[in-house]
Amino acid sequence: AENGEGGEEYLFKIVLIGDSAVGKSNLLSRFARNEFDSNSKATIGVEFQTQLVEIDGKEIKAQIWDTAGQERFRAVTSAYYRGAVGALVVYDISRRGTFDSIKRWLQELTNSLQSLVLVQFIPQKDVCEFFVVFGYGCYSIGSEDFGCGLEGYFLFLLLSGYAQNDSTVARMLVGNKCDLENIREVSTEEGKSLAEEEGLFFMETSALDATNVQTAFEIVIREIYNNIS
Ligand code: GDP
Ligand code: MG
Repeated sequence: AENGEGGEEYLFKIVLIGDSAVGKSNLLSRFARNEFDSNSKATIGVEFQTQLVEIDGKEIKAQIWDTAGQERFRAVTSAYYRGAVGALVVYDISRRGTFDSIKRWLQELTNSLQSLVLVQFIPQKDVCEFFVVFGYGCYSIGSEDFGCGLEGYFLFLLLSGYAQNDSTVARMLVGNKCDLENIREVSTEEGKSLAEEEGLFFMETSALDATNVQTAFEIVIREIYNNIS
């Protein structure tokens, strides 16, 4: 979209996912405000934060979404993922269980981003109505008068521009809390090989001492930028 000054405007939605207490909220506050909070308080209120990043002289708005703690109940909804073009999938290197959950998070991300276009023919009106289905959500994207006299309803999948698939989402596996070397339960090698297997970028970070936090977000943002330009 044009911003009125001749330049282009970019807005990238990036989601943070991973088990509770792996440090998602602190990665975001480190990136956006260079702050760390040692008291684990459930995230309240804010759904996302917008951070300006410059890439190749272009101003990019990275809209980074953080859960409000609903991952504790495995209740992250498809609305959270909708429209995301990047994801940081986070585990805690000092808790193996959080690493074991990664595949489930990747699966949920993939499922939620896959969208179908359903076409419903409405005989009474002689029109086709189009719906996009995201995860478990569904919304109408308009209708068209086909005048084709078809009977009944039909559905089909369109492999069209409406369909978003996870290969267009820049994904990074993040092993957070790398400052906790003395109680590490997941080796760097294990992280790397999972990332390779799943086709993800990989980085170990520490929101506490700021190691690689900026870099991790920037790699994802640059990859999104490369995907679209
Ligand atoms: P979330 O539930 O994934 O959003 O995790 P939080 O950001 O709320 O962090 C959970 C707990 O881990 C808090 O007590 C944080 O202070 C702590 N924490 C987060 N990141 C780090 C880190 O990089 N190193 C260490 N040592 N602790 C961290
Ligand atoms: Mg949180």
